Amino acid sequence: MEDSLYYIVILLVLLVFLLFIKYIKARKKYNNIHSTVRKKEEEKKATAKRRYVTPKMKSYILKRDNYTCQICGISKGLFDSFIPHLGDYLLLEVDHIVPVANGGYGDDENNLQTLCWRCNRKKGNTKTNDEVKRLIDYGIESE
Ligand SMILES: [Zn+2]
Repeated sequence: MEDSLYYIVILLVLLVFLLFIKYIKARKKYNNIHSTVRKKEEEKKATAKRRYVTPKMKSYILKRDNYTCQICGISKGLFDSFIPHLGDYLLLEVDHIVPVANGGYGDDENNLQTLCWRCNRKKGNTKTNDEVKRLIDYGIESE
């Protein structure tokens, strides 16, 4: 009788041990998943911060490029020469030459250029200015 009690105690100890191992493993897995999610969120925030171009920098880049798209050459001045202030309706954007995803910075003026809305959409995140130039046919001589 005492023998069987002894075995039951041994089995219970073993069971508790196995459950403990399982608990440790589950906890480890949970922590891994959480740290991966946290890492991804931090990366996202860092990317957004790097992409950001301050309004001051934006107006500086537009002025530096003389309000002219660096791909197709369309400009505020050209529009204004037809009708005064028509150029205000030309949507010029400040583009990251090297995309933030590929290591470019939003606070580096050498990495920023003025593009018109159409060229910027064509450029996306993967193409260079020359590749876009070859793609577009706006009916405007860009050479
Ligand atoms: Zn353009």
